[in-house]
Amino acid sequence: MSESLAELPTGGTVRPITRWGAEVMHHLPEPVTAFDDELRSLVADMAATMYAADGVGLAACQIGRDLSVFVFDCPDEEDVHHRGVVCNPELFLPVGRDRKLDDGDEGCLSLPGAFVPCARPTYARVQGQGLDGSPVSYAGQGLLARCLQHETDHCHGTVFGDRLNKRSLKKLNKQAAAVAEEYGEAWPAERRAPVPGVPGQGS
Ligand code: ZN
Repeated sequence: MSESLAELPTGGTVRPITRWGAEVMHHLPEPVTAFDDELRSLVADMAATMYAADGVGLAACQIGRDLSVFVFDCPDEEDVHHRGVVCNPELFLPVGRDRKLDDGDEGCLSLPGAFVPCARPTYARVQGQGLDGSPVSYAGQGLLARCLQHETDHCHGTVFGDRLNKRSLKKLNKQAAAVAEEYGEAWPAERRAPVPGVPGQGS
């Protein structure tokens, strides 16, 4: 898995993070077809925004762009970091007896400060295209598996709230509402106040 330490473009601008409820987060985004400087610039902004928000992944819709691309920088189950850019991601999950579920907590930078358990397969593989349009594939377990699934969801117009039962969704929304004041509309481009004790697992 050490081959998956691709470099993310640097020098981007931290953008305000788009929240759940904005239309761009809840429909199928446009595929990436032009692997040009504009894409590189967008991805640099996505990486800058992900790091500013202490996230492990971020999709274009989360900074308001209607395009199927995500970035990630996330540890796997052995705490080995993986990072990369995936355009037009397709997800492959284990089936049959290889399919095991992890009921760990999940959060989303587009609903900051809230975490509830969300059952996901323990292993995931994502296939798509890199910044230059060449084929890329990333796979792993642990938080990385969760992250790859979460970001691919974003690139398919889904948020993890869509996967929760009513009770979990209510709990999630309640948590988010309780800390909403700490995340102003411009977050993380501007921070209102230090956010206490929030684990850096959102994506
Ligand atoms: Zn998310």
